[in-house]
Amino acid sequence: MTTGKINVSVENIFPLIKKFLYSDHEIFLRELVSNGTDATLKLKHLISIGEAKVEYGNPVIEIKVDKEGKKIHIIDQGLGMTADEVEKYINQVAFSGAEEFLDKYKDSAKDSGIIGHFGLGFYSAFMVAEKVEIITKSYKDEPAAHWTCDGSPEFTLEPADKTSRGTEIILHIAEDSLEFLEDSKISGLLSKYNKFMPIPIKFGTRTETLPKPEDAPEDFVNETIEVDNIINNPNPAWTKQPSELSDEDYKNFYRELYPMQFEEPLFNIHLNVDYPFNLTGILYFPKLGNDMQIQKDKIQLYQNQVYVTDNVEGIVPEFLTMLKGVIDSPDIPLNVSRSGLQADGAVKKISNYITRKVADKLKSLFNENRADFEAKWNDIKIVLEYGMLSEDKFYEKAGAFVLYPTVDDTYFTLEELKEKLKENQTDKDGKLVVLYAGNKDAQHSYIEAAKEKGYEVLLLDSPIISHLIQKIEGDNSGLTFVRVDSDHIDNLIKKDENTISKLSDEEKATLKTSLEAYIPKAYSVQLEAMDSQAAPFIITQPEFMRRMKEMSQTGGGGMFGMGNMPEMYNLVVNTNSDLASSILNTEDKTHQEHLVKQALDLAKLSQNLLKGEALTAFVKRSFEMIK
Ligand code: ADP
Repeated sequence: MTTGKINVSVENIFPLIKKFLYSDHEIFLRELVSNGTDATLKLKHLISIGEAKVEYGNPVIEIKVDKEGKKIHIIDQGLGMTADEVEKYINQVAFSGAEEFLDKYKDSAKDSGIIGHFGLGFYSAFMVAEKVEIITKSYKDEPAAHWTCDGSPEFTLEPADKTSRGTEIILHIAEDSLEFLEDSKISGLLSKYNKFMPIPIKFGTRTETLPKPEDAPEDFVNETIEVDNIINNPNPAWTKQPSELSDEDYKNFYRELYPMQFEEPLFNIHLNVDYPFNLTGILYFPKLGNDMQIQKDKIQLYQNQVYVTDNVEGIVPEFLTMLKGVIDSPDIPLNVSRSGLQADGAVKKISNYITRKVADKLKSLFNENRADFEAKWNDIKIVLEYGMLSEDKFYEKAGAFVLYPTVDDTYFTLEELKEKLKENQTDKDGKLVVLYAGNKDAQHSYIEAAKEKGYEVLLLDSPIISHLIQKIEGDNSGLTFVRVDSDHIDNLIKKDENTISKLSDEEKATLKTSLEAYIPKAYSVQLEAMDSQAAPFIITQPEFMRRMKEMSQTGGGGMFGMGNMPEMYNLVVNTNSDLASSILNTEDKTHQEHLVKQALDLAKLSQNLLKGEALTAFVKRSFEMIK
């Protein structure tokens, strides 16, 4: 038996590890299972290049919990270690055997998927254990070794009688970590961190019911057997080639990832790049609607099939954090606790790649099946519009697939829309005027009025649409957006002056004075000669003011103090309406006031502006009128 002192510069490194190195003690299991996986993959590689002349078999990694003995065993059938290797690999802290391995077999090992560079992986065992044993037998023809260490730098190393190849790690769980002896705790951790690791992981057994034979008698009782309980899927969909996978496979994998999600994803994007960095993954577009709420099931980050975190901030551009799925990249630099990102150029490259890939996929979905893309538009638009606002690279590409639907469900790209509007919707400066509604119900009468005049009306109802419109207008697009209930559209759109006013200029002046006598200061009265069938009173809001107010409510744009902006409205009165004539011609001042106020209330009602006391009074007055 050898005893010795681990060569560390700090006398007591273990308490330090326990305290500072890892933010989460629970990751010890991930580290040890990763080591077992590495050891197995290394063996596989050595066999494949003829260096190890042993049977690979069907290796599994087994976890056993001995509650009474307060022990956890992690057993692998990998390449094992000789006593010398234990000295070398285990005793020299921060000495990464994986690193040396990679160095030695640099080229041939590239594709073997070794989980290296995980730093002090093995020593994380001391976060939960007061004593750790390693019993290991190398694939080489050498005796097994037994290493024991109680957390101080002293260790013992002696021969062992283990005959089967591989390594068994025994953790003697410390008093403050007894929770890890619960089966439910361990299976929870395994399914969080190890669900997609490349080597099968066994935890306990389960009973399986054998199928009933065809010639079974009536009273046949199905036989049950005990089988290994394998908790992981070693070949998750993202590790395969897109050509190997059907739509159904992608959907099944989504269910595997999110067992509690019952809604199917709309479509997926398979990421697959190996130069200048390595990254695979599958992103899913869930049904989002207009909700920008924080997602519960977030994108998961893996490194070589080992779960790292579901905080992908920085790696995935912000607008895509609304998506779901998996990203696997060994090239994402992580700090030692593997929970935080080190912001650097490589990460920015990855984020740019993802943005580009998502844009390309959207473009091809649009080109391949436009009808389907249109049908999904409402559920994806929020992500795309947010992307246009936040990522210039995405904005540049968005023209090819971002849609602008009309209130009647015709979908235009921006270019198509421009073509369409050219014919009859330009303003006095020659800019194309895009009329839009934010809500089909609330703005119904305005939409109808605009359509009657032959105008195209879009339905743009995302919460962030004001920001996007602002951006598009500022982008030399030659477009100006006006909501249907904004400053009256006839003022903006150049039109044939063929609606002649029934009223003389003198009559108009009189009408205006009469109206202003009864109408609150916040309204500026505007007379217009419209079709006699058009609404007599219409309230509109200046486009600019309304939009600024909305933008300040949805955050951003640096619009400070916009909440205090005064309410401003236009009251557009149709001088060709019968009501305008009645108001003008009545001699009875009380009746005139009555007409104006009732009409104003009706106009407010249709703009959803009549509320509280005013609404109650209006309803009461209206009942009086019809009784
Ligand atoms: P890393 O895995 O990052 O190299 P560790 O501290 O986890 O760092 O492990 C150190 C070294 O010990 C490994 O590189 C490997 O050579 C060896 N080792 C650890 N666990 C095992 C195991 N289960 N089987 C064989 N070798 C192992």
